[in-house]
Amino acid sequence: MLLLQRERNQVVEYCLKMSEKRLSPGTSGNISVRNPENKLIALSPSGMDYYIMKPEDVVILNPDGSIADGIRKPSSEWRLHTDFYRAKPDMFAIVHTHSIYCTVLACLGMPLKAVHYAICDSGVCEIPVAPYRTFGTQELSDSVIESIGSSRGVLLQNHGMVACGININRAFSLAENMEFCAEIQWRCLAVGQPNILDQAQMSEAFEQFKTYGQRK
Ligand SMILES: [Zn+2]
Repeated sequence: MLLLQRERNQVVEYCLKMSEKRLSPGTSGNISVRNPENKLIALSPSGMDYYIMKPEDVVILNPDGSIADGIRKPSSEWRLHTDFYRAKPDMFAIVHTHSIYCTVLACLGMPLKAVHYAICDSGVCEIPVAPYRTFGTQELSDSVIESIGSSRGVLLQNHGMVACGININRAFSLAENMEFCAEIQWRCLAVGQPNILDQAQMSEAFEQFKTYGQRK
């Protein structure tokens, strides 16, 4: 039995899902799951084909980013993951992708607006854009942490997006919802100006969202 076997399995399963759902071109994107008891982090390895990746390839990090166990090099965005968990102690999974429509808006420096109520999944009415910094740097991580506020999702200017959740299922679902909202916003802008839901409409949607689906 490997250290953090369950979390390693989840990283492998959801990295594949990320590829199959076309959220991450090539080997881009990365996923981490944090163990609630020992706070160790299971993170996908750097630049590895998701179709050959196995649980033993997943790298286990200590909360400070040092390697606790693993035979591979961790994702180049390991700082982003460890800093994120420090900033959001109640979150236990992170999905980072270069999904097309989120990245299009990020390249335009355009926040995700409430063009569709599915944005509720992020916990905010507008998902911010973190200013551009070179990938894999402390500066990028700082930029993301400074920008995210109370949101569970953020766009990374000229780069991609990050979503977090109380578990991997919720983090992945937010990544999918953000991509859906980004595509709708982009398609609306291709034709005209989308109607943006107002504060009152969003407050009601947030209430409904609390009881939607099989939340766990
Ligand atoms: Zn990236």
